[in-house]
Amino acid sequence: MNVPEIFASNVFNRQVMQQRLPKEVYKTLLKTIDEGYPLDTSVANVVANAMKDWAVEKGATHFTHWFQPMTGITAEKHDSFISPTKDGKVIMEFSGKELVVGEPDASSFPSGGVRATFEARGYTAWDPTSFAFVKDGTLYIPTAFFSYSGEVLDKKTPLLKSMAALNKQALRILRLFGNTTAKQVFSTVGAEQEYFLIDKELFEKRKDLIYTGRTLFGAKPPKGQELEDHYFGAINTRVSAYMRDLDEELWKLGILAKTKHNEVAPAQHELAPVFTSTNVASDQNQLVMETMKKVADRHGMHCLLHEKPFAGINGSGKHNNWSMSTDTGLNLLDPGFTPAENGQFMLFLTAVIKAVNEHQDLLRLSVASAGNDHRLGANEAPPAIVSVFVGEELEEVIDSLEKGVKYAGKGKKTMQLGVDTLPELPKDTTDRNRTSPFAFTGNKFEFRMVGSSFSLAGPNIIINTIVADALRQFADELEGAADFNAALHDLVVRNIRENKRIIFNGNNYSEEWAKEAEKRGLLNLKNAAEALPHFADRKNLELFSFLRVFTEREVRTRTDIMLENYCKVLNIEALTMEEMAKKDIYPAVNKYIRDLCATVRAKKDVCEKAPCAAEEKLIGKLSSMNEAMSEKTEALEELLIGSKACKTPAALAAFFAEKVIPVMQEIRMYADNMELCTAKEYWPFPTYGELLFSV
Ligand code: ADP
Ligand code: MG
Repeated sequence: MNVPEIFASNVFNRQVMQQRLPKEVYKTLLKTIDEGYPLDTSVANVVANAMKDWAVEKGATHFTHWFQPMTGITAEKHDSFISPTKDGKVIMEFSGKELVVGEPDASSFPSGGVRATFEARGYTAWDPTSFAFVKDGTLYIPTAFFSYSGEVLDKKTPLLKSMAALNKQALRILRLFGNTTAKQVFSTVGAEQEYFLIDKELFEKRKDLIYTGRTLFGAKPPKGQELEDHYFGAINTRVSAYMRDLDEELWKLGILAKTKHNEVAPAQHELAPVFTSTNVASDQNQLVMETMKKVADRHGMHCLLHEKPFAGINGSGKHNNWSMSTDTGLNLLDPGFTPAENGQFMLFLTAVIKAVNEHQDLLRLSVASAGNDHRLGANEAPPAIVSVFVGEELEEVIDSLEKGVKYAGKGKKTMQLGVDTLPELPKDTTDRNRTSPFAFTGNKFEFRMVGSSFSLAGPNIIINTIVADALRQFADELEGAADFNAALHDLVVRNIRENKRIIFNGNNYSEEWAKEAEKRGLLNLKNAAEALPHFADRKNLELFSFLRVFTEREVRTRTDIMLENYCKVLNIEALTMEEMAKKDIYPAVNKYIRDLCATVRAKKDVCEKAPCAAEEKLIGKLSSMNEAMSEKTEALEELLIGSKACKTPAALAAFFAEKVIPVMQEIRMYADNMELCTAKEYWPFPTYGELLFSV
């Protein structure tokens, strides 16, 4: 495989644009891409035609406006390029208008009641900052999705708006440090994507996996992850062939798939790309997830992206590595070497610390879902309490600044920001702590709470917005300062003092931390039902509308959509559980019991005194457990009927979290215990052992 040759071969990127567009058109288009200038129709027509010719050469017959409704996945509707001619033939056509706007029927996408079905008109608008590409015979055009009343209906638009807010505020700061060359600041993201691979035939035998993406039943197999023999282990040939194929597909789409390895749990793996601008990273992560599933299918496997496909072993996350960069390639979270660079770094670092402390609720709820509730706080993923890890060296620096004492490592006077250089921070020591939800890892932050199936848009809208808001306050204060270095020093020290409670470098999995965090007054929003309603808190409504990321109405409707999604997921899980318990497990166990009874009778027929204690004991045990499971299943049915009485999405979510989930856990407990003592041939679906060691 010639990687440089195939890389981005299916992407209409700058290089292709330059080759295929007249010089003037190319220059105009760059102004649109880099500086957001609107594109006029004549230019759009030329671009569209070049794009179509290129796509047709790649085998495309259709185009689609590719968008990201609030379902968390992508949507597409394909139109062919064909246009009839007078002689009854067709030619391939694609106009500037078709490139720039589309009109999908918007009525069936979640909108939280923004748009009634009768005004089902929505439109998609080309996002030229994310390149078009060809996949499966179609030209994909990344787009934003709006309603005609201007209401935003997708995840991309607010992400772009949050990036614009960050750009504006970060540039104000850079100018204060005398940087006149940077034209743009954008956030960057590299997302480590975890996933499971299981055999497709086994997958098809499990209704829970098919309907919900996770196992609702399953006793622990004799071997799980306790030997720690899977993490970074040798990759077997079947998985290796899969990963190779996956890399190739992603490279063709211009995705910088870089690292791949086995993860902690059996059948679990990870893929990490090289980081890129957040908007592109978010689009590309959608393609990564989709391609993972598609390629798995070709290899006779199924790829599970759920946060917790299997109880008792690790679930899957998506570590969101985040930083800010200028268009000139400067990473704003890189400490640098000179006093000025150091001072600037400390300011950006402090802004992030302040942002996280003041908006723990937003970060927490940006990763809240029914799936991720199984992970957060389960000793495999960060707890539900948000905190920041900065590492020992940096904490020492922060301490000495705050207290105005000498920095131990330097043996020098006390440090003055903007005047003195920071001690060099050894990079590797900042990356040891794997338990922190929000960790500084040398030149970026790693937000580790994101669930594996999440769109990157949600969490990054939040990070960009809250950091932009902290930078805005800093810029307001510093722009009027007479002595910049003194004001900078004062601002950083004061903000560290005010926000220090969010810094924690210890073990986030420990119980002591939960207690300590409570003492510090940190939030602990245990599940999605508790976390999500905070989105519409007054503080957040003001924040988003002030920075023009969301209107108040958009925040409220999005809160409802997220809560409704949580309830729908749990409702599907509950119904699936009911069906499996009633139609599969209950009859299977009864059949086994009947055969055990027949065995006892047969034994007694032959020999009156034949020992049957084992059978009798088992019959008793299974009968009572099956009975109990059946009762709980009925209770679950009644609860689901009762749930209809909940009047608001928040009330319904709380009902599911508090009432429905505990009953589901009980049903599972009975079923899993029965699985452990039911003969193999009777059990109605593949076991954990078979699923986890099938590939
Ligand atoms: P580790 O594996 O120790 O977490 P890596 O350096 O391999 O650290 O980075 C993991 C992810 O972080 C990769 O996807 C990488 O591209 C991303 N990353 C590195 N630098 C940045 C940055 N400045 N901004 C955003 N993501 C970054
Ligand atoms: Mg990492």
